[in-house]
Amino acid sequence: MGAIYYGTRTFSKHVGYFGPVQECVNCQRSYKKAYVKYSSWFHIDYIPIVPTKTVYFKACPVCGHGVELKSKEAKAEMAGGDDGSQVLTPHVKHVLSKKPKGIMKADNSYELWLKDEVSGEDILIAGDVEKEVIKSLKKERGYKKVPTEKVE
Ligand SMILES: [Zn+2]
Repeated sequence: MGAIYYGTRTFSKHVGYFGPVQECVNCQRSYKKAYVKYSSWFHIDYIPIVPTKTVYFKACPVCGHGVELKSKEAKAEMAGGDDGSQVLTPHVKHVLSKKPKGIMKADNSYELWLKDEVSGEDILIAGDVEKEVIKSLKKERGYKKVPTEKVE
């Protein structure tokens, strides 16, 4: 008989960009806010059984500065829908030339970028970080498939 694991798991999902274009008080970039849904589920053996809690996070898509919203508030603010006028594509660069040579050294040669498909600008979100940091940023922002490009 194997052990049964149970507890809660949280899933994150980037829902879209809503509301007016606003200058971020933290990074001074002007974008519509990104809305990320976090849903917690009670799981048994990692299979989600019942939802326990849902919250939203409304944040600057560049620096991540933002606030937590209750489901109801977030839904009201998102009611107008995402008009698709803001398209930001996340992508990861693994900068091989910055990769440490020693086997035991932490590989902090990863970068997370956000490409503004409208202006064409590529914005650095996090640089000189480890793969784990990229992973937690992806989770925090609710990004699903993010391509990794190897750069010499
Ligand atoms: Zn910001």
